[in-house]
Amino acid sequence: MKGPSAEILKALETAPNIYLILSPDLYIITASNAYLEATETTREMIVGKHIFEAFPDNPELPDADGVQNINASLQEVLRTGKPHKMRIQRYDVPDIRQPGKFITRYWDPSHTPVFDENGELSYIIQLANNITEQVLADKIRQKLEISERHFRLLADLVPAKISNARPNGEVTYVNQQWLDYTQLSFEEFRNFGYHQLLYPDEIKEFTERLANAARDKQPMEMEMRYKNAAGEYRWHLNIASPVLDDSGEITMWVGSTTEIQRLKEDDQRKSDFIGMVSHELKTPLTSLTAILQVLQSKLRKSEDSYVAGALDKANQQTKKMSQLINGFLNISRLESGKILIERQPFLISGMIHEVIDEFSLAGTSHIIELQNCGKTVVRADQPKISSVLSNLLSNAVKYSPKGSKIFVNCEVIGNEVQLSVTDEGIGIRPEDRERIFERFYRVKSNTHISGFGIGLYLSAEIIQHHQGRIWVESQTGKGSSFYFTLPL
Ligand code: ADP
Repeated sequence: MKGPSAEILKALETAPNIYLILSPDLYIITASNAYLEATETTREMIVGKHIFEAFPDNPELPDADGVQNINASLQEVLRTGKPHKMRIQRYDVPDIRQPGKFITRYWDPSHTPVFDENGELSYIIQLANNITEQVLADKIRQKLEISERHFRLLADLVPAKISNARPNGEVTYVNQQWLDYTQLSFEEFRNFGYHQLLYPDEIKEFTERLANAARDKQPMEMEMRYKNAAGEYRWHLNIASPVLDDSGEITMWVGSTTEIQRLKEDDQRKSDFIGMVSHELKTPLTSLTAILQVLQSKLRKSEDSYVAGALDKANQQTKKMSQLINGFLNISRLESGKILIERQPFLISGMIHEVIDEFSLAGTSHIIELQNCGKTVVRADQPKISSVLSNLLSNAVKYSPKGSKIFVNCEVIGNEVQLSVTDEGIGIRPEDRERIFERFYRVKSNTHISGFGIGLYLSAEIIQHHQGRIWVESQTGKGSSFYFTLPL
């Protein structure tokens, strides 16, 4: 057995291909420079070694079959004397920088026998290309495809309408529920058909809130209407969440849109009912109040002190009751868009004094302190602003210990007047702070204290109708400050 000549060896070593030259008994005669580079070995390390001594299986890969497969291919070549091309083969190479470790490698090896002039096998050329990068890229693509399929399957399974959009609003995906609801095609969605589904009066708010969410890189949540295939607008809860890349920029929006039409209709029935009941209760209560007042004036001269006291209390209670009923009536007026703001100029300090006096008259258990109030005049709906202040005061009384102090403050800041009510009470936890201005929202731990969760909702609506702002600052266990502003 002569093996290749020195010249051929030289040629093979310098050819730009990845070659390994094996003797018929599978010892390494030489390797091309490209082979050494691809396997991160040197000629000295491998020449003269048996191929599987130089290149063992990666012991950390339990199902490594490189040795077995290469061996099978070589045996086939030895048996048949014909070239053999293998399928893509994972065959990790030892990492010279970390002894004992291996580097992942994929190859497409082929073995070619070379015979001498006597027809005897002289040597075998193993030709292989390092196709690791393509294989790994392929694997990632496959994984992505599978996860994409998975996502679509999931998105079609949930009852919500799911969409993806680019930062510029271009829709890149909608699930089946969107297509069914609108009877649009995906192409129509992509060509900004989405915007034709919005309720015209809501487009401005939606666009603004989405722009704010994009600026803050925060999710946006909005109850809004979408047109269905029959042209009806139905209520949905729409949540748009930004997906950020590594540098914190928005790469896409994921939208989840759930129909809440039934809830809205139930809600509407509930408010209609509340409105109707309150309206019906108001008539008898008004006559009761009138009768009590006549009675009171007739019996003023009565000798019986009990009677006079009882009538006072009866009057106070009917007053409380009519305030409650008015609250409910206002809710249903608000809901049907019938709340009317009647602006008149009035002195802020006068209004504050009136409200505080009323509290003092009713015999409050707290110390109310009025700070810093000048002669500011606002143009606003006085009874409604009074009811906001009165509501904040009655909350301060309800949610703070007897005998503690309540501060009412008023100051002009820029072109606004800012009123505040500060108590030394139980405070409000951050997660509740965001929600107490919602209709019927009450903090769970205080439900033993009487209330309906409409005071702050009504107050916020009234202030918003005046183009003012209302908010709360609070420390749990220390107290709360409610603020509202009115434009001057
Ligand atoms: P209500 O007092 O009738 O429950 P509101 O709308 O006035 O309804 O208030 C909503 C909730 O906010 C209350 O249930 C209460 O838990 C909380 N809250 C309001 N004001 C205060 C306050 N000053 N201190 C602590 N919690 C408050």
